Amino acid sequence: MPAAVTLDEVAKSFGDIVAVDGVSLEIADGEFFSLLGPSGSGKTTCLRMIAGFEIPTSGSVSLHGNDVTGIPPYERDVNTVFQDYALFPHMTVAENVGYGPMVRKEPEQDERVVRALTMVHLDGFANRKPSQLSGGQRQRVALARALINRPSVLLLDEPLGALDLKLRQAMQLELKTLQREVGITFIYVTHDQEEALTMSDRLAVFNHGRVEQMGTPSEVYENPRNAFVAGFVGTSNVMSGPLAERIMGSPAPFTVRPEKISVEDPAAVVPSDRAGIEGTIAEAVYLGMYTRYRVDVGGTVIEVAAQNTASDHSDAQSQVGRAVTLTWMKDSCRPLEEGPRDGEPDERAPALAGAGNNIPEEENIE
Ligand code: ATP
Repeated sequence: MPAAVTLDEVAKSFGDIVAVDGVSLEIADGEFFSLLGPSGSGKTTCLRMIAGFEIPTSGSVSLHGNDVTGIPPYERDVNTVFQDYALFPHMTVAENVGYGPMVRKEPEQDERVVRALTMVHLDGFANRKPSQLSGGQRQRVALARALINRPSVLLLDEPLGALDLKLRQAMQLELKTLQREVGITFIYVTHDQEEALTMSDRLAVFNHGRVEQMGTPSEVYENPRNAFVAGFVGTSNVMSGPLAERIMGSPAPFTVRPEKISVEDPAAVVPSDRAGIEGTIAEAVYLGMYTRYRVDVGGTVIEVAAQNTASDHSDAQSQVGRAVTLTWMKDSCRPLEEGPRDGEPDERAPALAGAGNNIPEEENIE
């Protein structure tokens, strides 16, 4: 069975600006796939090329095995939900949701509107106007309006961006559940790594118009390919040069996640299957579920997330200045690819250096 969406070496330039620089990916039928990356990394442009709002400068876009590169949006079996929802303010919720079928003069319009509103838990809201709804409810109307068309692929461009944190988290789970129920392929653009990890079956991490890494959330989180991915998807400690040599016996760069590290007494014996380094707690922040420590190990700061044993904020504060040994399982160290990839411009290097533990590369070496 052909992939729901295939991008083959797709590139897009706007004048001198290269927005997308040779992206190839395949998204399976029924998959929840996220395009994750910082602002300006080319995610939205990619999504717009799948929708047909932008035509690639080179490369091809296929839907279910059919090349649609030059085909206009309305002839593609996809729908888009935008961040600003783009609802018609003068129409009721039901009229907004039923707009597509009404324009196309399709049968059973009323029944389909009712079903679509039930799907997004908005029964009873049919006669309200968008201005009489909360942000989350408006978002659901936009979803229902797309789902009523039963597209085989639904494109979502930061659809939860306007919602507050609590509502966003609730909607993330709701969206994921809905996607499983309807079985439609969802392609989701976000710059929020937690959102992408929560919802996606797989995700692609974008940087400078290219895909740095693609995989399941755990593959990307547990095995980041380079310092950019390690720093963008979660927090990470990137160690290289003399510091890496002192810890692991080799200067090759590696990363270790903060939650894999234990804070122990300075005299702790480090078993052979664990790495260890001495340092001083420079900062301790009580965050409820865990305490975040920043530990100075001779000029480099290592971040540690320790599940809370300290019972309150003042206990955490009293840790500052304490000498400690940090230890972690050696197999928690993930090797990182060094430097830019073939053909990658050199200006990528500063982003790389700052992406890990936010310490400039020079300072990241003892
Ligand atoms: P954001 O998260 O901020 O939406 P993004 O990753 O979706 O960012 P894009 O919107 O795809 O990024 O933009 C990629 C690059 O292309 C940016 O440098 C942007 O300024 C540029 N760009 C996008 N659309 C146009 C356009 N119509 N004309 C000129 N430049 C554009």
